[in-house]
Amino acid sequence: MSDAPQKTVFLETFGCQMNFLDSELVIGQFRRMGLRIASDRDSADIILFNTCAVRDHAEQKVTSRLGELRQVKADRPGVIIGVIGCQAEREGKLLISRFPHIDVLCGPSQLDRLPDLIAEAQATRKRAVALSGGVKGRQRDADPEGNAIERLDQSRAFAPGENPLQAYVRVQRGCDKFCAYCVVPGVRGKEKSRKPENIVADCRRLVEAGCREITLLGQTVNSYVQNDAAGQPVTLARLLEQLCGLPNLLRLRFVTSYPGGFDENILRVMAAHPAICPYLHIPAQSGSDRMLNAMRRQYTAADYLRLMDRAREIVPGISLAGDFIVGFPGETESDFAATVEMVRRVRYKNCFVFKYSPRPGTAAAQLPDDVPDDVKRERNNILLAEQAAISSQTHAELVGQRLSVLVEGPSKSAIESPAGNPRQLTGRTVFDQIVVFDCPAGAEPSQLAGRLAEVRILHATPYTLIGELATIESAGAPNDSAPLRYKSLTVIQ
Ligand code: SF4
Repeated sequence: MSDAPQKTVFLETFGCQMNFLDSELVIGQFRRMGLRIASDRDSADIILFNTCAVRDHAEQKVTSRLGELRQVKADRPGVIIGVIGCQAEREGKLLISRFPHIDVLCGPSQLDRLPDLIAEAQATRKRAVALSGGVKGRQRDADPEGNAIERLDQSRAFAPGENPLQAYVRVQRGCDKFCAYCVVPGVRGKEKSRKPENIVADCRRLVEAGCREITLLGQTVNSYVQNDAAGQPVTLARLLEQLCGLPNLLRLRFVTSYPGGFDENILRVMAAHPAICPYLHIPAQSGSDRMLNAMRRQYTAADYLRLMDRAREIVPGISLAGDFIVGFPGETESDFAATVEMVRRVRYKNCFVFKYSPRPGTAAAQLPDDVPDDVKRERNNILLAEQAAISSQTHAELVGQRLSVLVEGPSKSAIESPAGNPRQLTGRTVFDQIVVFDCPAGAEPSQLAGRLAEVRILHATPYTLIGELATIESAGAPNDSAPLRYKSLTVIQ
C-alpha cells in the first residue's frame, strides 16, 4: 500500500436538486478514484464548483469564488480548479478568458467524463474541456441516446458505512418546453427519459442499502415516457406503480411537474398507493394569461386552476407547492393582481417566488426588462406575505393533531446554532410539512433517524410545525442496530 497522502477534492454545489444529484454521483466517482472528500476548500488538491445558470445570482457567487482562487493557484500551481454544470456549459470559454486558472470545464451532459478530464489536466498541465457546444436556444446534442448520463446515474457509490435515508433518482434529463425565460433547454439539452428497468434497478439498490424515501427528478417529470424491455411505453403513472411495490420503500415523491398536458392517471395512482406522497410541486409562474403567453407556458390560468381542482378531487388533502416569477417583462399591476388571486385561490402549502432577471440566450432576454427593481421587490414581498398568511392558517389547523413523520435527523438549529438544542429532531410528513420535536429522554437521537414517528403538534409557524413525540412506529428503520447517517436534501436556490 502506498504511503502517499490521499489526494483530496472539494466540491461546492449551487442550484437545484438535479445539481445536488449530479454532485452526489460525481463524488461516488471520486471515491472510486481513491480521492478523499475535503471540507476545506483552499487546501484541497482539486477544487470544483457544480454551477447553476438559472439565475444571475448563483453565477455571480461562482465568479466571485473563482476570483478568490487566483491566489491559491499562484501559491499552489498543482491544484486543479474546475467548473462543472450549467454555468460551465452556458459561459464556456468566456469563463476561461476571465479566469485563466480554470483547469477543467465540464458541462452537465458530460459529467461521466469528469474523472478522465481531471486526470488529463493533472498529467498534461493543460486545460481539459468537455462541453456540448452552444446554448443559443437549441443545444447540439452530444449524447443523443443519453448514454453518458445513464453511465453517471448508474455509478452511484456510497461511502463505507453510509446509509442513505433519502435519495434523489433521475428519471429524465433536459427539457423540450423552451419557456421564454429559461436556460435549461440550452444547457441541459433535449428531454430524454431513462429506461424504466434502469430506474427500478437504481431504486431497488437504494432501498436495499437502507433508503426509505426516494424523490424522482425530472425537469418536467410528468412527461416521463420510455419503452420498457418489451417495447411497451411506460408513463410516469406506470413507473410510480412499479416503484411503490418495492418492499421497505416508505415514501416516493416526484418533482417537478409541468401543468400543461398533465395526465390524471398520475393522480389516480397517487390516490391508490399510500407510499406515493400526496404532494405536487407544480409551478404556475403567473396567474395572468397575458404573462403565461409571453413566458411561452403552454396552458392558461383557467387550465391550471382546473388541474388543481382535479388534483384535490382525486387525491383528497393533496399538498400543492408552486413557483411564481414576478416582474417578467411587461407585467402590469393587473397581471400581478391575477397572480395574487391565484395564490389565494390555490392555497399552496408553500410557494417559491423569484424576481425576474434576464438570462442571456433566452427568448425573454430580447424583451425590455421594464419592471423596475423596487417594483419587483415589492411584488415579491407581497406574494410571500400572502403565502405566509395562508401557511399560518393551514398550519394552525394542525395544532393538536398527531401526524406521522419520517424522522430525518437533528434539526437545522441543532446542527447550525451553538445555542440550539442538540436533541431536537426534524422530519417531514407525507405532505412535505417540516416538523421538529425533542428526542425523548433515554433515546439516542441518531437511533430515531429513518423511523416513522407519530408527533403531536403543539405550535405552528408558517414554515414549521413544533410538536412532541407521541409514539415511534416500529416499521421504518432499516437496521435497528446501525444508526442512520442523515443525508441532507437541502437545496440552495
Ligand atoms: S419547463 Fe420551462 S421552466 Fe421548466 S425547465 Fe423546461 S424550459 Fe425551464
